[in-house]
Amino acid sequence: MSGIQGKVIAITGASSGIGEATAAHLAERGARLVLGARREDRLNTVVDGITARGGAAEGVIVDVTRREDLQRLTDTALDRYGRLDVLVSNAGTMAVSPFDELRQDDWDAMVSTHITGLLNGIGAALPVFRRQRSGQFVNVGSTAAYVVKSPQAVYAATKTAVKVLTEGLRQEAGPDLRVTLVSPGFTHTEGVGKGAGPEVAAALIQQRDEIAMPPSAVASAIGYAIEQPEGVDVGEIAVRPTAQA
Ligand code: NDP
Repeated sequence: MSGIQGKVIAITGASSGIGEATAAHLAERGARLVLGARREDRLNTVVDGITARGGAAEGVIVDVTRREDLQRLTDTALDRYGRLDVLVSNAGTMAVSPFDELRQDDWDAMVSTHITGLLNGIGAALPVFRRQRSGQFVNVGSTAAYVVKSPQAVYAATKTAVKVLTEGLRQEAGPDLRVTLVSPGFTHTEGVGKGAGPEVAAALIQQRDEIAMPPSAVASAIGYAIEQPEGVDVGEIAVRPTAQA
């Protein structure tokens, strides 16, 4: 199946920002969506918006750090639509801080959301894709994996892990599966500065408001990777605002 129309696509972190914009982009093009996140009210708003516009979407409360939640996300796709064509692993947290602040819970959250969360998605979807002899992983990395900027080292390290895991998975995927890394630069979402200390948050939000691109730019990049013909695997897309160094 090529294109977006009719594809069954699960997205993590779909309650806001890039995930929400990706859901809207794909729904407009006829995808059938299973959307995961932790905040029920925000997730319901996204699902209701899509269905009100005639799209197909279902919400599942998912914490990606929990293996069984990812299983529930993929099971919902199979129960509802009988297949899963794409898993977009987008859930993330950007609670960046200098090491001296010792915000170890935030370090843990970034490691468990970006690394364990990604692996939980692979664990849930890979057997489905193997059975179907088709499927696509789209993993959301970050341009932070290319240039380490203080105080973002822990975040950058986890996003570097996303890049490495994606490439390793691509090499093992074989001819039936597609594996894509989409690495956004500064994107105008509520996640920028969220959970960071007040000084770091203020600096990030100011930079976001000056140069960030809209989340729809990342959604288009994800859509581009999905809509290619079956035998074409878009390995990696980096998409940044032009003003980003
Ligand atoms: P948002 O904060 O708007 O979105 C993050 C999403 O992830 C939310 O839907 C949140 O939902 C979800 N999420 C966070 N933790 C978990 C979890 N444990 N389980 C399930 N869902 C979770 O920020 P963005 O849209 O900007 O971020 C999306 C992705 O893009 C992240 O991976 C981020 O690192 C990446 N990115 C963002 C950039 C930017 O400049 N904005 C730049 C480069 C990459 P909920 O809280 O409801 O669970």
